[in-house]
Amino acid sequence: MGLRTEYNFENLVNESENLVITEMERQLALKKNQDNCRCEDCILDIAAFALNSLLPLYRVSLMGSVYAENAKRTPYAEDVRKAVAAAILKVKANPSHAP
Ligand SMILES: [Zn+2]
Repeated sequence: MGLRTEYNFENLVNESENLVITEMERQLALKKNQDNCRCEDCILDIAAFALNSLLPLYRVSLMGSVYAENAKRTPYAEDVRKAVAAAILKVKANPSHAP
């Protein structure tokens, strides 16, 4: 039995990923981060570092963004802000792109 062919796992999403990308957009727009590298390697690495330091937040995506709106007002949102800030600093100090 192939679960992947019978069910649509596209509807299983890690909400943490959406929150991290939105927070990255906010923080990378800050003046202090203006000179950060924006290449694909660095941007995806920031997301990966941040996501690996956070607890996952999986949900089935039938409720759209309602959950994400609520998540902004939880302690988890503060964890996301800290994780993204730390990831930006980490990648800046040690960029992933080829020199
Ligand atoms: Zn880069």
